[in-house]
Amino acid sequence: MNFLSVYAIGNASPIVQLLTVINETGDKMKAKTNLDKIPIFRKTDIIIIAAVIAIAAVSFLVAVKNTSSANMVVVRVNGEITAEYPYSENGEYEIKGENGIELTLVIADGVSVRSPNCPDKLCEKTGLITNTSQSIICLPGRISITLEGDSNEVDAVVG
Ligand SMILES: [Zn+2]
Repeated sequence: MNFLSVYAIGNASPIVQLLTVINETGDKMKAKTNLDKIPIFRKTDIIIIAAVIAIAAVSFLVAVKNTSSANMVVVRVNGEITAEYPYSENGEYEIKGENGIELTLVIADGVSVRSPNCPDKLCEKTGLITNTSQSIICLPGRISITLEGDSNEVDAVVG
């Protein structure tokens, strides 16, 4: 080591030290803000939280859509619409399904099935349905009774 280099180090040293401190501080700050420096479980947490929020949002939207007010009672036999009745008007209707199955559709503050001649009577046991997420199925008669909302609402959701 000659005199010049000792002189240079001696003079430069405080500046070098200061620069080193600044660099280290900068690195620490970068480490705090840089996602790559965050332990992997933190990133996983963020992904999980985001996923939970997304699922909650979707569930909420689906729930709102499914509980939208019913306007029509739609009867299908073998998947084909055979009758439609306004949900707001009380009434009783005879429904004929496949295999000689018949039942009475009752609309009165909800929709239910009365006195079916199917063997299992599951359609009757379904009880009262009151919103568009619910349906009554009579498998032996291949009958489905669903509540459907306003078609304008459906268009708005699709569009
Ligand atoms: Zn039935």
